[in-house]
Amino acid sequence: ATHPPVSANIEGAALIGITVKKEGDFPGWYQQVLTKGDMLDYYDVSGCYILKPWSYGIWEQIQRWFDAKIKGIGVENCYFPMFVSSKVLEREKDHIEGFAPEVAWVTKAGSSDLDEPIAIRPTSETVMYPYYAKWIRSHRDLPLRLNQWNSVVRWEFKHPQPFLRTREFLWQEGHTAHLTFEDANKEVLQILDFYAGVYEELLAVPVVKGRKTEKEKFAGGLFTTTCEGYIPTTGRGIQGATSHCLGQNFSKMFGITVEDPSAKEGEEKEKLFVWQNSWGLSTRVIGVMVMVHGDQKGLVLPPRVAGHQVVIVPCGITNKTSEAKKESLYNDINNIAQELSAAGIRVKADLREGYSPGYKFNDWELKGVPLRLEYGPQDADKQQVFTARRDTGAKAAIPLKGLADSVNKLLDSIQADLYKKAKTSFDENIETVTSWDQVVPALNQKKLIMMPFCLEEACEDDIKDRSKRTDGDEVEDAKAPSMGAKSLCRPFDQPPGLVPGQTKCLACGKDAKEFCLFGRSY
Ligand code: AMP
Repeated sequence: ATHPPVSANIEGAALIGITVKKEGDFPGWYQQVLTKGDMLDYYDVSGCYILKPWSYGIWEQIQRWFDAKIKGIGVENCYFPMFVSSKVLEREKDHIEGFAPEVAWVTKAGSSDLDEPIAIRPTSETVMYPYYAKWIRSHRDLPLRLNQWNSVVRWEFKHPQPFLRTREFLWQEGHTAHLTFEDANKEVLQILDFYAGVYEELLAVPVVKGRKTEKEKFAGGLFTTTCEGYIPTTGRGIQGATSHCLGQNFSKMFGITVEDPSAKEGEEKEKLFVWQNSWGLSTRVIGVMVMVHGDQKGLVLPPRVAGHQVVIVPCGITNKTSEAKKESLYNDINNIAQELSAAGIRVKADLREGYSPGYKFNDWELKGVPLRLEYGPQDADKQQVFTARRDTGAKAAIPLKGLADSVNKLLDSIQADLYKKAKTSFDENIETVTSWDQVVPALNQKKLIMMPFCLEEACEDDIKDRSKRTDGDEVEDAKAPSMGAKSLCRPFDQPPGLVPGQTKCLACGKDAKEFCLFGRSY
C-alpha cells in the first residue's frame, strides 16, 4: 500500500479521539463529538452553548440556501426588538398559555426594579402583529411577508441538549399575512418543502412531512405542518421544523384587516381579517445532522454544508526527504488546492509543521471533513492523489488530470450515499402496526410506529400513558427511553389500507381517521 494505516503512525490519537461508544453512551458520545469536533463549547449559564466557527459555518450555509429560497417567493428580511411588554405578549390568550412557563423576564436595570417587567421574545407573533395592523391598510399591502434571522429565548425545563433544546437558540422566523386562506395555505406548504430541503438536500437527513394533531399544534394557530426526523441510535423522533397556518386568530386579536376588494362601488365595504402564517427553523437542525451521521471517529459532515469539503495532507515526508523535494511537494499541494478552489470546492491544505500525517488524519476525521486527499513523493511520481472518504473509509488513487471533476463527483456521491444510508435506516425503523400489542415492543426496539388513529386528544393522552415502559416489559436495551410515545405527525404520504368507517383506532377502538406517526421523542 502507498500509505501506512493511520493507527501505525500516531501519537496521542487516543487522547484527541472519541473515547465513548455511540451505541453505548449516546449522550457522552454526543458531547465528545461536539466538543472534540470543535463545533461547540459549554457555557456557565445552563442550557446555553457557544457555537464555534465550525458549527456556525454550517448555519451560514443553511442560511444562504434558505434565504435565497424565501426571497425567491417574495419574503423580505427585517428586525424587530427582542423585548416585549407583558401587555402585548399577553394579547393572545391561547398563544401565551402555550409559552408562559418558558418566558424569561427582565425585571431590573442595574440595581433598580423596572416599573413593568419586560419579556424576552420566545417567538415574535405578538411583537410583530401590532405593526402588521398598522402597516396593512388595504389589500394592496398584501401579501406582507417578513422574516427575521434572530435568536429567541425559551427557558425550557426539560433537559437541555446542545442544538436540540437550548434556552437561547438561533433561528429564522417568518411571519406573513395574506388575503385568502388559499394563499396562506399554499405558502405554508411551500415553506415546509424548503424545510424538508434543508434536511434532505443540505444535511442528507430524511424527514417525514405531515400535519400535527390538535394536541401538538402551535398554541393559538389553526394548524401546524412539520417535518419529523428520527435518531436511530436512541429510536426517538424529533420535530425538525414547523410551518404554521395561524388562520385568522391573531388578525382578530390584533385587528389586522383590509376592506373587501371584491365589494361593489357604493356598497358598504366589509372588513376582512387577514390570513396569517408563521414558520421557523432553528439550529436544532445541526444537532440532528450530527446525531444521524456521526460515528465512532467523530463528526461526519455532508459535503454541502461542511466548512472544508476537502483537506489535503502531505504524506511520506521523512528525515531523508530533501528540502527541495519537500518544497516541491508543498508547491504541488498549493496548486492542487488552488485548482479545486477555482472549481468552487471548499478546500484546505493542511501544511502545519510538527504534526504527523496520522495526527492530521485523526484531527480532520474528528471534524468530519468529507474527503481527505493524501499527497506524497510517490503520488507526485505517479501524477495522482490518494483519496479517503470520511463516510465509508473507502480509499482510492485518482489521477491529477481532471482532479476537480473527479473530486466534485466524489463529493456528490458522498452526499447522496449519506442520505441513502440514513433514509434506509429511517424506513426500516418505521413499523406499520396492525394491533396495539405490537406498539410497545416496537417502541422498545427503537422504532417509530405508523398506526391507524382516531385523532382524538384524550386517546393521545392515553397512548402516552400506555406506551411508557413498565417494569414488566422485557428490557431489550436498558438505554432505550422509557417515556411514553406521542404523536409526531399525520404524514401527508399516507400508507395504504385505511378503510373509513371500518378501520379502527388501535388504541381506543373507535373509527380511525388517518395513519399517524407515533414515537418516543425529543
Ligand atoms: P415553534 O415556534 O415552537 O414551532 O418552533 C420552531 C422550531 O424551532 C421547532 O420546530 C424546533 O425545530 C425548533 N425549536 C423549538 N424549541 C427549540 C429549542 N429550545 N432549541 C432549539 N430549537 C428549538
